[in-house]
Amino acid sequence: MLGGVRPTAARRSWWLREALAAEAVADPHLAAAAPPLRGTTTADVVVVGGGYTGMWAALRVTELEPTARVVLLEADICGGGPSGRNGGFVTNWWDEFPTLIERYGVDEAIAIGHAMEAAVDEVGAFATAHGIDAWFTKAGSLSASAAPAQDDGWLPAVEALRAHGLGDRLVPQTPDEVRARVQSPVFRGGAFMPGAATVQPATLARGLRRVLLERGVTIHEGTTTVEIDGQRRGMLGAVGARARRAPRRRGTFGGDRPVRIRTTSAAGDGEVLAGSAILALNAWAAAWPWFGRRLVTWSSYMVLTEPIPERLADIGWTGGEGVADARFTLHYLRTTPDGRIAIGGGGGAAGYSGRIGRVFTDSTADAARAAAGLRRLFPSLRDVHIEDAWGGPIDISADHLPWFGSVAGRPIHYGQGYSGNGVGPSVVGGRILAARAVGREDDPVLALALAHGRPPRAFPPEPARYAGARLIREAAARRESIEERGEDPGIVLREVSRLSRRLGYHLGPD
Ligand SMILES: Cc1cc2nc3c(=O)[nH]c(=O)nc-3n(C[C@H](O)[C@H](O)[C@H](O)COP(=O)(O)OP(=O)(O)OC[C@H]3O[C@@H](n4cnc5c(N)ncnc54)[C@H](O)[C@@H]3O)c2cc1C
Repeated sequence: MLGGVRPTAARRSWWLREALAAEAVADPHLAAAAPPLRGTTTADVVVVGGGYTGMWAALRVTELEPTARVVLLEADICGGGPSGRNGGFVTNWWDEFPTLIERYGVDEAIAIGHAMEAAVDEVGAFATAHGIDAWFTKAGSLSASAAPAQDDGWLPAVEALRAHGLGDRLVPQTPDEVRARVQSPVFRGGAFMPGAATVQPATLARGLRRVLLERGVTIHEGTTTVEIDGQRRGMLGAVGARARRAPRRRGTFGGDRPVRIRTTSAAGDGEVLAGSAILALNAWAAAWPWFGRRLVTWSSYMVLTEPIPERLADIGWTGGEGVADARFTLHYLRTTPDGRIAIGGGGGAAGYSGRIGRVFTDSTADAARAAAGLRRLFPSLRDVHIEDAWGGPIDISADHLPWFGSVAGRPIHYGQGYSGNGVGPSVVGGRILAARAVGREDDPVLALALAHGRPPRAFPPEPARYAGARLIREAAARRESIEERGEDPGIVLREVSRLSRRLGYHLGPD
């Protein structure tokens, strides 16, 4: 089904390979500008994690406190994680509006929605301002039903938005309106989010890295953080995490007792003593004691076709919109400027106890699900050659939203749980974390309820978490595939797939 293509961590995503190749041409010295850490160093703010969240946060610190010494630690290379592997959908959260209302109330939900909407434009403006060729295309995003069972899944969000005068943020589409954007024999009605965009995700990530280096941020790639303030990776359940206001700033950021971070790299062991710390670990957070029970890790895989611009014209998909079906195990797909389709999703596999291993990067079977999705949605493209496949971990929280907080009594600030939807939201996340780290309690971003939310509900401990996640997700994927064939999945499969909803989590089909 993949035509011999096998996803592997070693080859990296097509996005990142392209971005690194362009970077090497533009500036051959840039790759080596972030050497591994060896020995002890100090910082006003240390950032752990060189994905979008960590890099937006570091960037914001340089804006809020231009003289601050900022050190960023990344185990791989910046953008080597999901920030350089994702689908490149830059969405706002208007489709999450009912959940936001439930969690934060109407006024706060609207404020958060506006902040996420602005973040989409901020990505585009940042790329333009810094000459980053990130293909920012604000052509909106279409969610289309691909089976009767998927019809109207967007209605609760559409109706809640309409009730608050925001009906233009998510607009229902008739089958004809869907066809006018893209012709699939299985698409029915849908909903269109005009405020969404797409990007070349890895070019954006590497562009952020370049700008950070230009601003004097010290970046250490190939540098794995193994201990933070006495807590070690993998010591799950040792301490609890609690969202609270950051300690007041005294002298250096955060307080008198520095945060001590220990690292390891090919260059040797290292240590950073910092006034405050930002943890931007995404799925890797599941291995740290503060967050382990609050996250389920899950893989998402993408495949990329050869360039087929004429075939895209045949199916009328030339407007650059992002497209997704309306499964819970959704397929998300977008085009590239040279006329390829990149499609992801359709299932995936659960991680065990915070370990981010090869199940997230090397599963041909999970990549094949994405390819199967392409062939179901566009049977006319069956003969199209798949040129690449890759995967990565996503960090699922109980309500499908990230949360931001600080370790009780310590200037250590964190944000994770984007649940596979962090490209745009990480701009806001980075701002929250930066404001916290430098003690700017008056920063408008800290007025958002998102900055002060309670942590989401905990998942059961292992091995129940892994077994439950796997059972329910497999049941959901099987149920949705059966429903797509117009058959009845039966009561048992339907009820198992609903289990997480029944247990009070905002996850899984209903
Ligand atoms: C296949 C796929 C498709 C996706 N598609 C979309 C999409 O279209 N739109 C969307 O909005 N979202 C999408 N997502 C999710 C999106 O990629 C993430 O939400 C987003 O990249 C999160 O950014 P981040 O900086 O928080 O995390 P990451 O990019 O994961 O960055 C975390 C970094 O921390 C580093 N790290 C971890 N542990 C340590 C340690 N101990 N020491 C040092 N460094 C460490 C990691 O190496 C990693 O680089 C997708 C994800 C995947 C996997």
